[in-house]
Amino acid sequence: MRLTDSTQEAEFRTYVRDWLADNLTDQWRRDFGATEGRERIDFLKDWQGRLFDAGLAVRSWPAAFGGRDAPLAESLIVFEELANADAPPDVFRIGVRIIAPMIMELASEDQRTRFLPHIAEGLNLWSQGFSEPDNGSDLSALTTRAILKNGKYVINGQKVWNTYGHLADYCLLLARTNTEAPPHKGLTAFIVPLSTRGIDIRPLRQINGQQDFNEIFLDDVEVAEDAVVGEVDGGWIVAMTMLGFERRGISVLGFACRRLFQRLIDVARVTSTRDGKQRLIDLPGVREKLTSVGIQARIAVLNNHRFAAMSGGKPGAETSMQKLHTTELNKTMHALALDLMGKSDLTDPHARSQFSEWERDYLTSFGMTIAGGTSQIQRNIISERLLGLPR
Ligand SMILES: Cc1cc2nc3c(=O)[nH]c(=O)nc-3n(C[C@H](O)[C@H](O)[C@H](O)COP(=O)(O)OP(=O)(O)OC[C@H]3O[C@@H](n4cnc5c(N)ncnc54)[C@H](O)[C@@H]3O)c2cc1C
Repeated sequence: MRLTDSTQEAEFRTYVRDWLADNLTDQWRRDFGATEGRERIDFLKDWQGRLFDAGLAVRSWPAAFGGRDAPLAESLIVFEELANADAPPDVFRIGVRIIAPMIMELASEDQRTRFLPHIAEGLNLWSQGFSEPDNGSDLSALTTRAILKNGKYVINGQKVWNTYGHLADYCLLLARTNTEAPPHKGLTAFIVPLSTRGIDIRPLRQINGQQDFNEIFLDDVEVAEDAVVGEVDGGWIVAMTMLGFERRGISVLGFACRRLFQRLIDVARVTSTRDGKQRLIDLPGVREKLTSVGIQARIAVLNNHRFAAMSGGKPGAETSMQKLHTTELNKTMHALALDLMGKSDLTDPHARSQFSEWERDYLTSFGMTIAGGTSQIQRNIISERLLGLPR
């Protein structure tokens, strides 16, 4: 594994940097900052379309579905540069990084040609309907039922923690189609348009004040047989494939952690202790903590490149290591920001302004250690599948 860009990668990185400098203007950021709800999604659909036109949205996808057939390393460069440029949140990640790769592997030809180009261009927003009020980590126990009646599946049940469902066009939903089989062999995956009759979506407010999550109530929701993805009763493989891609996708957070490291250093440089006598960056304890998270952020970045090179694109159990490491690091870095905040003079408006986003983002950082399987579940996978420890 190389630790530096090849000539071709370096040229591509320059292209991405220049493109972002031209397109992520101050005016664009101000306009984006003034949006919320549906308007925000429309704004981001436009952004995703521009990334797509520039060949950056789905760079390593096959050209047949809108990609550029590029090596995975170029997609990682895009993610890295997006993080360095403080790009807007990637609301299309569920479609682009979780559902689309699964569709490429497991869906029918018709589903691939119907859905993938629209996902690539950001024309449709997708959500994922796995978790239920009593079934999160133990997904195989889910109780939402789908019964085939007169050529249609009729779905009844409840989902929860559904990200972006209130704004999304589709949900990739898991339901039980067979109650006789062992729990994980009786599930089927469906593509469900969220405008279908019988779907009631109720947003939930999170601890960070945002409203990204939803409860979804399904009351005699009818979908055609061609809504099934993969095999009937074969939903487990769909779910496991998606979770592998989800964990790899979340690991992109490693690039954000490196950006966070730079931001933490900047904050510590311009903020003074409460007595105003020292800059925080000059405190030995602060330097030690910054060094520690800086090293971990570098490891997270290298892990992203290392595992992409090793696996050739197909995620395995190593994604649990990446997901665990980056999400826990992200949480630690935000906790360190709050620690710096506690040491600084918050009566100084300049110092206060340095920390305005960190508090909210600290609260958000907990969610990433839960989404896509909790840290405890990742540790179980690492111990059993990578370290070979007994169950
Ligand atoms: C930011 C965010 C976004 C999300 N987006 C979605 C989404 O779009 N779609 C969706 O379907 N879901 C989504 N989720 C839900 C997420 O997948 C679940 O919250 C997660 O799988 C945990 O399930 P649970 O909440 O039911 O917790 P539980 O499974 O009840 O777990 C409770 C606690 O017990 C621990 N635990 C459980 N089983 C074990 C075990 N075997 N060994 C050790 N410890 C264990 C867990 O680690 C946790 O600490 C999202 C969650 C978050 C935070």
